Amino acid sequence: MKALKLLMTAVTVGAIALSGQAFAQDKGAVGIAMPTQSSLRWISDGNELKAALEAKGYSVDLQYAEDDIPNQLAQLENMVTKGVKALVIASIDGTTLSAVLQQAADAGIKVIAYDRLIRDSANVDYYTTFDNFQVGVLQANSLVKGLKERFPDVKPWNVELFGGSPDDNNAFFFYDGALSVLQPMIDSGDIVIKSGQQGMDQVGTLRWDGAVAQARMDNILSANYSDGSVVHGVLAPYDGLSRGIISSLRGVGYGSAEQPWPIVTGQDAETPSVKAIIAGEQYSTVFKDTRELAKVTANLVDAALSGGTPEINDTETYNNGVKVVPSYLLTPYDVDVTNYEELVVGSGYIKAEDLK
Ligand code: BGC
Repeated sequence: MKALKLLMTAVTVGAIALSGQAFAQDKGAVGIAMPTQSSLRWISDGNELKAALEAKGYSVDLQYAEDDIPNQLAQLENMVTKGVKALVIASIDGTTLSAVLQQAADAGIKVIAYDRLIRDSANVDYYTTFDNFQVGVLQANSLVKGLKERFPDVKPWNVELFGGSPDDNNAFFFYDGALSVLQPMIDSGDIVIKSGQQGMDQVGTLRWDGAVAQARMDNILSANYSDGSVVHGVLAPYDGLSRGIISSLRGVGYGSAEQPWPIVTGQDAETPSVKAIIAGEQYSTVFKDTRELAKVTANLVDAALSGGTPEINDTETYNNGVKVVPSYLLTPYDVDVTNYEELVVGSGYIKAEDLK
C-alpha cells in the first residue's frame, strides 16, 4: 500500500513537472482568421501558419469563416476575449474590421494583415503578402504571350476582363497591374473588349465566386459573341474564376479543333487548375508559395511579440486609408505548361501524383 502511494506520488509529481515544462515553453496564443475553406490555398495557408507558430512555442486558434463577414467578426471578437497575443487575419471584407481591431489595440494585441490588406484602421501593425501589382502584370504578360502563340494571324484579339472581389484590396492591385500592360494595347486597337465592360465596378466578382464569373461569362458570350465572332483571351485573376469561365466557354463549344480554347489566365496554382493547364484548357496561373508567406508571417509574429525587429521590405505601397502599413512582399511566379513541373512540382507545392 505504502509502495503504491509512493508510486502514485511520484507519478503525480512527474506529471506536474511535465506540464510545468510545457507551460514554460508556451509563449501564448495566436489567433488566425482565414476567409474560407472553399479555396485550397487558404487551407494550406492556415495549416502552414499554424504549424510554423506551434513550432515556435505558440498555441494557435485557427478559424475559417466561410466567406461570411459576421462570422469572421464573431471569431475575431472571441479571440480577443480569450486573450490572444496576436491576430493574423486574412480578411473577407477588408473594410469591416475597425471596431474589433480597436478592441484588439486596447488589449495590446498585435495585428498582422495576412495576404489581404485591412483598410480604414490605424490598428494594423504589419502586412505580409506578395507583390500584388506584379501578379496582375504577370497575368497580362502571359495573356499576351498566349495570344501571340495561339492566334498569331488574328488582329485585333477579342479579350474579356474579369476582376476579383471588390471588397478585397488585392483585387484592385491585380487589375491595375494587368491593365498597366493591357490598356496600351486596348488604346492602340490590338485588343478589343467586345462587351465594353472595363473597370473594377463592371468586372469585379463578389467573394471571388466561380459561379458568379461563370454566369457573367455566359451573359457576355450570348450578348456579344452570338454573331460568330470568337473570344481569344480572358483575363481571369484567380483559378476558381478561371474554372467557371472555362465551363461557360465549354458550354458553347470552345475546346474543339474548330473553336480552340481562348487564352485563360489564373492565380494560385490550385491543383484542378494545374491539371487544366496540362490538359490545355487553362493557359496559365500565378504561383505564390504560401508556405513562404506562412514562414515569413510566423517569424514576424514572433519578432513582434518577443521584442525583436520584425523583417519588412516595403514601407511605401500599402496605404490602408489611414496609414501606410509596413509590409513584407514576396515574389509571385508565372506558371504555364512549360514550367509547372519545375516551379510547382519541383518545389514540392503539389505532388506529381496529385496531377494524374
Ligand atoms: C489572394 C489570391 C486569391 C484570392 C481569392 C486574394 O486575396 O491574394 O491569392 O486568389 O484572394 O481567394
